[in-house]
Amino acid sequence: MKILVINAGSSSIKYQLFDAKTEKVLVKGLAERIGVDGRHVQKLNGKSNVTNVKMPTHNEAMEVVLESLVKDGVVKSLDEISAVGHRIVHGGEFFTESTLVDKSVVKKIADLTELAPLHQPAHVLGINAISKNLPKVPQVVVFDTAFHSTIPDYAYRYAIEKVAYTKWGIRKYGFHGTSHRYVASRLADLMGKKGKFIICHIGNGASVSAVKNGKCIDTSMGYTPLEGLVMGSRSGDIDPTVVQRLMKEKKMTIDETITYLNKKCGLLGVSGVSEDIRDVDEIAYSNEESEKANDCRLALNMATYRLKKYIGAYAAALGGVDAIAFTAGIGENDNEYREAVLTGLEYLGVQLDKNRNGKNFKRGEEQLISKKSSPVKVFVIPTNEELVIMRDTKRLVAKNKNTK
Ligand code: AMP
Repeated sequence: MKILVINAGSSSIKYQLFDAKTEKVLVKGLAERIGVDGRHVQKLNGKSNVTNVKMPTHNEAMEVVLESLVKDGVVKSLDEISAVGHRIVHGGEFFTESTLVDKSVVKKIADLTELAPLHQPAHVLGINAISKNLPKVPQVVVFDTAFHSTIPDYAYRYAIEKVAYTKWGIRKYGFHGTSHRYVASRLADLMGKKGKFIICHIGNGASVSAVKNGKCIDTSMGYTPLEGLVMGSRSGDIDPTVVQRLMKEKKMTIDETITYLNKKCGLLGVSGVSEDIRDVDEIAYSNEESEKANDCRLALNMATYRLKKYIGAYAAALGGVDAIAFTAGIGENDNEYREAVLTGLEYLGVQLDKNRNGKNFKRGEEQLISKKSSPVKVFVIPTNEELVIMRDTKRLVAKNKNTK
């Protein structure tokens, strides 16, 4: 049984093909520049293969991907693909868990376009491209928001009039849910119990969640991914009145200002250097004495301070904390970032082991970075959203077969 996992964007399709039994990734790749000049990057047996090939729409892009699987001998025939799982950004309030795809599900995903205007139409194109190329293969959709559906109303509502929620769906939804769910489940295995966990997904986009007995009770992203932490290019939490002032000073429309807060702020905006923390780190941790170096240091201080504050808030929301986990690009790789966040949380029971977090750190592996005796355990857990999507797909397709 082989399962294809798809992440369809507006001009790209990312994919991984799994052997569902061994959970091994057989091949992964990216069809990009769809509707432009078309490029297919495939990673097979540790080698990267790039071909330029025309793909006017997602249908042709999917054709290119599927044909390559046969041509490169990953599968003998496409009949070997028994199911396809899709990553979907928004499930709204309707989808609280993964589900099998039928016409009504596709319509509902399209209906949520208002909440994720760039992503939802692209996801529908991805589903339709599979329906066209592999018409008999069952499809499953896995939502980024679903894990956060257990957040209570007093945490997900904004303090604005009721109609904003009841009529317009304005509330906290949260994102990165598939990653938070994966890490929460690994953390429960490592701790030998579910307990009170704080999960820090820190990549270019970043969010933190509070998970109690396996259920998410709060998360930092909100109605959109703009809320919460200081991210690569997003400001995170901000006084809405700043939007009004920015519009006036920079002569931007409201849409331009929201794009600005998403794309030009965060580490990039404060440092003036880059949204990639590696570039900011390089200057900040150098001996350079310049305004630029100080701005880089400030950007890192702001990002790590914001996360520290959220950890304190979530410890209060959970009524204590048993474990904290770091994941995603920065969380898995940047030991200085982790150290800056955790330093000062000793009062909570966090005792960082600087060697485990620093010179003895094994990149790419699950590991404890707090002292063994630390009352609050801290782990780094590499995330694996595709594996979660594959497992959900396998489970739901098998369940459907059994009930038929
Ligand atoms: P993600 O969004 O999870 O792919 O994370 C992307 C971010 O992770 C990049 O923008 C980098 O800032 C950061 N990152 C990736 N690799 C490293 C590394 N080796 N050290 C520090 N940061 C890294």
